[in-house]
Amino acid sequence: MQYKLECIGLLTSGGDAPGMNAAIRAVTRTAIYNGIRVKAIYRGYKGLISDEIVDFQTQNVSNIIQQGGTILKTARCPEFRTPEGRKIAYDNILKHNIDALVVIGGDGTFTGARIFAQEYNIPIVGIPGTIDNDLYGTDSTIGYDTALNTIIEAVDKIRDTASSHERLFFIEVMGRDAGFLALNSAIASGAEAAIIPERETKVDQLEELIGHGFRKSKNSSIVIVAESDVTGGANGLAERMRKEHPEYDVRVTILGHIQRGGSPTAYDRIIASRMGTAAIDALLDEQRNIMIGIVNNEIVHVPFTKAIKDDKPVDESLLGVLQILSI
Ligand code: ADP
Repeated sequence: MQYKLECIGLLTSGGDAPGMNAAIRAVTRTAIYNGIRVKAIYRGYKGLISDEIVDFQTQNVSNIIQQGGTILKTARCPEFRTPEGRKIAYDNILKHNIDALVVIGGDGTFTGARIFAQEYNIPIVGIPGTIDNDLYGTDSTIGYDTALNTIIEAVDKIRDTASSHERLFFIEVMGRDAGFLALNSAIASGAEAAIIPERETKVDQLEELIGHGFRKSKNSSIVIVAESDVTGGANGLAERMRKEHPEYDVRVTILGHIQRGGSPTAYDRIIASRMGTAAIDALLDEQRNIMIGIVNNEIVHVPFTKAIKDDKPVDESLLGVLQILSI
């Protein structure tokens, strides 16, 4: 059977990330440039099941490259986890004559895509969109750089209060069990330390911190904490610190959803544009069930199975850098 690529379906799924719109624009325009029709699917897998599918032209993606979030909306969809849900999704794909799918999202989105592609003969290419940067096979995910910049802007402001009042701040950042945001934002904001889930199993990081006398020469400090049950979060650590070191004036800030929004940085817009174009190129090349990644500034193709299952390690030597620079 000859490979037919006349129409693609495009969706965003899972957590939103700044730069997703730049990817939507790139996929849409590259497809149309190559004579391929684009069906935009609203609300991720939910819209694929409930048939929220419309034709997209180049104008539909005008003036969105600078916007955070996703114009296609996103949703969590428990129904797609069931064979019955996926059957309805596939029926809609047939109904709209969609030959291949491009999905923009994270780990969960690609897990769903992989299962769907196993059950039905539909080529799928993924584009990594998540602020957490927790996907194996790509140096960066779309949204990570923007989130990092949002965090350091916030930490810079908190630093003013920390130093004026001579306080110790625990600032919690997102990351969903990965320490990339915490570790790199700590370096970029000149924080005294980062507490990350990857290291928690090896040492008690709070004890290690105190052991190094991190407040010896300072009267204010910032510790960036990755959200995670493993780290105990900023509140858990602050509680412990208050008990073990009542001499410190401890405060907590949980940055929360501010980290997800905002206009994407130049870097995120560029990788989103490159990845979007690469996704269509990959489909034209008859590739399927891969995630587009970027490694050493080159586009790469990563099988879904690897992107999902393999752990992406954080560079723990960065903890050493942080420690040296915070003396
Ligand atoms: P992210 O893509 O950001 O990791 P989620 O983990 O919420 O976000 O996953 C997004 C969606 O992908 C889920 O709402 C669900 O519809 C689908 N999905 C996730 N895991 C599976 C699975 N094991 N089987 C089928 N679909 C899944």
